[in-house]
Amino acid sequence: MSVPTRRTLLASAAVLTAGAAVAQERPPEPIEGNRGASILGPRNAPRAAQNPDIFQPPSTDHGALPNLRFSFADAHVKMREGGWSREVTKRELPVATTIAGVNMRLTAGGVRELHWHKEAEWSFVLAGNLRITAVDTGGHNFIADVQAGDLWYFPPGIPHSIQGLPPDGGEFLLAFPEGSFSEDSTFAITDMFAHMPKAALAKNLQVNADALDAIPKEERFIFQAAPPPPRETDAVHSPQGAVPQNMKFSLMQLPPQTMPGGRVRIADTGNFPISREIAVAHVEVDPGHMREIHWHPNADEWQFYISGRARMTVFGAEGKARTFDYQAGDVGYVPMSLSHFIENTGDEPLRFLELFRAPRFEDVSLAQWMALTPHELVAQHLNIDVAVIDRLRAIKQPVV
Ligand code: MN
Ligand code: MN
Repeated sequence: MSVPTRRTLLASAAVLTAGAAVAQERPPEPIEGNRGASILGPRNAPRAAQNPDIFQPPSTDHGALPNLRFSFADAHVKMREGGWSREVTKRELPVATTIAGVNMRLTAGGVRELHWHKEAEWSFVLAGNLRITAVDTGGHNFIADVQAGDLWYFPPGIPHSIQGLPPDGGEFLLAFPEGSFSEDSTFAITDMFAHMPKAALAKNLQVNADALDAIPKEERFIFQAAPPPPRETDAVHSPQGAVPQNMKFSLMQLPPQTMPGGRVRIADTGNFPISREIAVAHVEVDPGHMREIHWHPNADEWQFYISGRARMTVFGAEGKARTFDYQAGDVGYVPMSLSHFIENTGDEPLRFLELFRAPRFEDVSLAQWMALTPHELVAQHLNIDVAVIDRLRAIKQPVV
């Protein structure tokens, strides 16, 4: 009897993705060697094929770790004229207490309305073009056009807006340094106007009450507006001047840290000073390579997978380890100090973001730690020849 291996699981995943006749493909079974048995009951074959390391775990996996994966494909989509949004918060992924993520799309002219929230807002533009605005407590204003690969950051409570630009608007990932954040509970200008007495609004703005006759009766959230004019014409002059710290950062224009099989770009307060509550690493791993075994001493890690396929094993002490599979649109999570690696399991480059609720990106490299500790000591722990320890890399190499 032939036993399905990890390779055949992935092969059947590719067939399923291609939409070929599922019935003709031998479905994966949770069998490896003499462990496991075939499935007799109902099955969700496409889901099993997407999760080969859950369906047929490595023998090193052991014990219970919390779920560390949730896909935006399983997140409710809030549709409006002008775009949509969906979110992965602590409600969807309970372990993710430090960061919540929102994926949003705006058409050309589509507006995420003027609003603010208690949490800071960090964003990475995934595709297209958008215009962002903000005004700070000193009356300094900010306006910028952003494109794929750009970041923005609005400090807590600072009011802002986002609008899609021609020809086709844009799509972006938002992150908030609070796992229970929800896009549904932000302070929106239309919601506020609908819930303050019109006479008070008129007195405050020093306008006639009839100027407010047509204000919306409820929050708009996202709505379709006319595409804006060029930025130079759209910008408002502030007598106080522009914001003192740039709220935009072109991450993908940063020359990457390169190594065989990978490229890493980091944005934190070291090069993007306003981003005090979110640090990010954009990581690219070529086929056959992996993000090295490491951990983060300062924060939990919230991941967003942009392209490719990956598996991650997380070690949680007390003999606990669990392996999860990821693909484009998935969110992953690693609690602080749990060691992990991320391996490219596909045949295209793997791209993902590591986000931290921290001012700086920090990680500890297993190989570097071993290389910089007395080699005889390390060798005796692991019954490894000291000559092997002598050859370990003393310089940190995020992708190997
Ligand atoms: Mn916002
Ligand atoms: Mn990590």
